[in-house]
Amino acid sequence: MSADEFQKKEGYFIQGLWYPRVTSICQIKNKPALYYFYAQAENYEEADLKKNQAAAEGTMIHHILEKIIIGDGFVVPEQYLGIKKAFDDFIKNHAFHSRKEWLERRVKHSNHRYSGTFDILAEVDGELAIVDLKSSASIYRDYRLQTAAYLSAVNEEPWLLDENGNKYLIPNEVTKRYVLRINQKRICEKCGVTMKLRSMGNKIEANKNSNGCQHGWGEILGEWELKEFDQPEVDFQAFINAKGLWEWENQEILGRIGYL
Ligand SMILES: [Zn+2]
Repeated sequence: MSADEFQKKEGYFIQGLWYPRVTSICQIKNKPALYYFYAQAENYEEADLKKNQAAAEGTMIHHILEKIIIGDGFVVPEQYLGIKKAFDDFIKNHAFHSRKEWLERRVKHSNHRYSGTFDILAEVDGELAIVDLKSSASIYRDYRLQTAAYLSAVNEEPWLLDENGNKYLIPNEVTKRYVLRINQKRICEKCGVTMKLRSMGNKIEANKNSNGCQHGWGEILGEWELKEFDQPEVDFQAFINAKGLWEWENQEILGRIGYL
């Protein structure tokens, strides 16, 4: 890989200086669940296709949630109505306030030299928080690393930059970090079994009561889970350790581009 390709793929230039990206750094960590996913598939190509479909769906769900948060009379496409229902239910249960300038913002940590793009800065139940959106089937412990990295970066330099380089001051210290998992589902009106809706293939939960049922699926519903991560210092140290390993792995090319 050329130095240019590497810099483009693995990081961002901010004000002329190159910073490796949080998500690239976190890739250095082994992900056993991913091996399991590949091993379950028919073949490698099928697994890869599903993985890409899941990523594309994740991007779409991010996009829709951002539009919902901004408002502007956005009409949610029919096949994503469950996302809207889930979010509506979430804000019934939690005081949530965000704004356009707080969505999908790039942050950098000058001291530890990395950058990343978080999903949402918001006040959740009265406290400023980084909220990472996920449409995965569950909330993985790995998400601790990236959310700790974003949290530390927003508190190191308390402003956000938009695409045009405008600065938005963050009013207070950001104290919390969450993952907000949002999924869509349908429930069989005959046997009550749940089907999770995923672009990579809908998944019907195992249930002995549904043996032989000719399912009759109800309307699209949403489900959500808000998970707070404690111990940000512990996770941040783990992220910095991962970054050290990532630097070692890429030692040669990082030397060539003048990073190390
Ligand atoms: Zn059924």
